[in-house]
This record gives sequence, C-alpha cells and structure tokens, in this order.
Amino acid sequence: MSVDINKLVRQNILNLAPYSSARDEFSGTEGVFLDANENPNGSYNRYPDPHQVELKNVLGKVKSVSPQNIFLGNGSDEVIDLIFRTFANPGKDKVIVCPPTYGMYEVSANINDVEIVNIPLLPNFQLDRQSIFKTIEQDKAVKIIFICSPNNPTGNLLEGVEEIIERFDGIVVVDEAYIDFSPKATKVPIIEQYNNLIVSQTLSKAWGLAGIRVGIAFAQKEIIALLNKIKPPYNISTLNQQQALLSLQQPEKFEAERSEILSERDRLQKELLQLPIVQKIYPSDANFLLVEVDNANNVYNLLVDKKVIVRNRNTVIKNCIRITVGTKQENEILLTELKNISQ
Ligand SMILES: *Cc1c(COP(=O)(O)O)cnc(C)c1O
Repeated sequence: MSVDINKLVRQNILNLAPYSSARDEFSGTEGVFLDANENPNGSYNRYPDPHQVELKNVLGKVKSVSPQNIFLGNGSDEVIDLIFRTFANPGKDKVIVCPPTYGMYEVSANINDVEIVNIPLLPNFQLDRQSIFKTIEQDKAVKIIFICSPNNPTGNLLEGVEEIIERFDGIVVVDEAYIDFSPKATKVPIIEQYNNLIVSQTLSKAWGLAGIRVGIAFAQKEIIALLNKIKPPYNISTLNQQQALLSLQQPEKFEAERSEILSERDRLQKELLQLPIVQKIYPSDANFLLVEVDNANNVYNLLVDKKVIVRNRNTVIKNCIRITVGTKQENEILLTELKNISQ
C-alpha cells in the first residue's frame, strides 16, 4: 500500500522555495571559503554541515538504515514540530493522540493551532484500535496519528501498530524514544513497506546525550526530503554533531550502560514491591517504572523534602509516580527514603 504523500502536505510547504545556504551551494571541504560571511579565525568559526553527512553515515551503520532515510532534528521535539508544520494545516486539520502519553504532541499541536482528537488507551494501556479506525473513517481532517511505543509514562510497548499504518491514509508517527530498553524490535525496518510511516528516536535516553539535543526521524526519502526542506538550515551545531559521532563510535559503552540500567530496573522493581506503600508496578519496556503508591502526592512531597525527585503522575494516572532508573547509588538513596516513608 502506498499513500499519496503530496496530497497530505500543506500547500505552502509544497510551494516553498527553501533557504539555500552557502554550504548548500558549495559543499566541498577544501578551498578558500569566502562565501558565508564567517570570521576566518577560530575553531568553531565555520557553520556546521547542514546535512550532517558524516553523522548520518555513522548513525546509519549503527541503526542498519541508509543515511537517505534519516533526518536529524534539534531533539525529537523539533522533529515533532516539523511534522506538524509539514502536514497539518493550522485551524483545519486534526491529529490523533492516545493519552496518557508524552505531552509534547499536545503542546506542539496547540502551538501549531491543530485540533487534537484524544483516543485514550484502554485500561490495559493498549491502543483503542476500534475507536481509532472509526475516527479515521469518519473524520477526514485527521492527518497524523502519534503512537508512543514504548509509551511514556506507562512504560509498555503498544501492539497492533501495523494495522493502523495500513488502514490510515495519513501520517503515522511511532515515537521510539525508549526502544533501546525494549526486548522487542524497532519498527524502523518497516519504513520500507509504508511510505506514510515516520519512526522517531533520540540520542537523549539510552545514548545518554539529552544535553546535546539530537532527535532522529526514519522514513522513506519523500518524507525525509520534506523535513529537510523546512528545517532551520544549521539545526544541529558542530559541537553536537561531534559529540554524537564520538558516542556513536563507542558501542561498548552504550551496551554497558544499557545493561546496567536494565538490571537496575529489575532490581528496583523487586525492591519496591517489598514496600508496603507500593500498590503496583506496571511492566516496563523503558528506563523508568510507573509505580502506584497509596498516596502519590504525599510520597512525591516527602521525597522532594529529601531531595529525591521523581515525576508525580497522579493527575494522569491516579496515585502513580514515574521513577527513572538511576545509578545503583541513586536507586539506593531512593529506596532508603521510601523505606523511611513506609514506616
Ligand atoms: C524523552 C522523550 C523524547 C526525547 O525527546 P528529545 O527532544 O529527543 O530529548 C521523545 N519522546 C518521548 C516519548 C520521550 O519520553
């Protein structure tokens, strides 16, 4: 199945003549560069590579994807915003979001003046696919569906995503920020089958690089070209490209940290279950645990008093706190303070 992507793109984006930077017009590395009004002195005096060629080559190898199917954003947040700006007409189109989920889809929708159709997850935190199918059949203004898998803050993988991609003639975004912590496979390989699928990932979580803001979109070339057309020309700084390259070239460090976080996650889960204030821990495919306690506001405030900061999700899922897996030492401090609260 193939979707007519051009029909989904906003007319102003189709018509857009993109900014052509000095480095677009001449991209060699050798020569006397007098074309970009840079200062000739210094070590960060040159504009960064606008297409991040080297970084995409290395990332492509790590992810087993062609660099042509990779777009890089200033964090996934930029990727999400650019997807809105490419496909969703402000004041006219709509997007489907499945709460409780990552808050940026809603914020980005509001910034772009795009109406949200909320289709809450079922009580088992899986997608309500019947409602999604009904909505996309009845409401042709729906342009994008956001699916976060593993989902934040519930921690679980979402099932039945392929059928949604197949039955929808709009864009499906699968946000895989936490996929490196999951035993299940990424959806990246199926971008080959579906030209309306965008899989987003990030270097902010398992790669430990939240500070450098590198988000990734994987898709067929047509969508990658659209995102490239509208992105700010130099959206990933030289420093950030260099640090990303350095980290991606140390896969052993990545593996060691990931397995440490996973074993700490399991340990934390076992220890937390021993505490009387803990009612339930939801299964996690991510680097955090969603924990139901007897009184989330109380537990949250008492932990803050001890300078241990977790995320209070009480307003989203009653009496739940979301705990990020820290270092062994950090997790010990958390457990000690929770034991004190339990007494
Ligand atoms: C943390 C997170 C991200 C990462 O966002 P960045 O802007 O890349 O740091 C993306 N999606 C979800 C669901 C997240 O929880």
